[in-house]
Amino acid sequence: MSSHAHQHHEPHGVDLARAAQTTLERSGEQWTTMRASVFAALAAFTKPASAYDIAEAVSKSEGRRVAANSVYRILDLFVGANLVRRVESANAYIANAHPGCLHDCIFLVCDSCGQTVHLDDDAITRGVRHAAEAAGFQPERPVIEVRGKCADCD
Ligand SMILES: [Zn+2]
Ligand SMILES: [Zn+2]
Repeated sequence: MSSHAHQHHEPHGVDLARAAQTTLERSGEQWTTMRASVFAALAAFTKPASAYDIAEAVSKSEGRRVAANSVYRILDLFVGANLVRRVESANAYIANAHPGCLHDCIFLVCDSCGQTVHLDDDAITRGVRHAAEAAGFQPERPVIEVRGKCADCD
């Protein structure tokens, strides 16, 4: 692990849902039953999930048809509030392991099994932001994703 690694407590399961709820409510939004279901469904995936995957899972758990469009709107809200991150190269979403802490995550995406883990190295991401600024570009959302093979698929 890098000496620059960002150290913080990363909640899981019920604790993660509670941390997500707190963060969303702090942003002035309500933690509705539907939003809670969408977050729970996403957090249960071991790999990044698409809006369709999540709509499928929520439909099953709710026992009624939930449209991908409504799931997409909630995901959009979650991304804006830092509860969920988009894994761009996988065109999918992943629950943010640290919803209360805003910084740029680095994702390692396995090409074989799709497993995606995230790393925090603020020295690297700050460097990316500085390089963009030095080029006269205003960085709003750096996307740093590394494709390759995970330890299980090696
Ligand atoms: Zn992170
Ligand atoms: Zn793998």
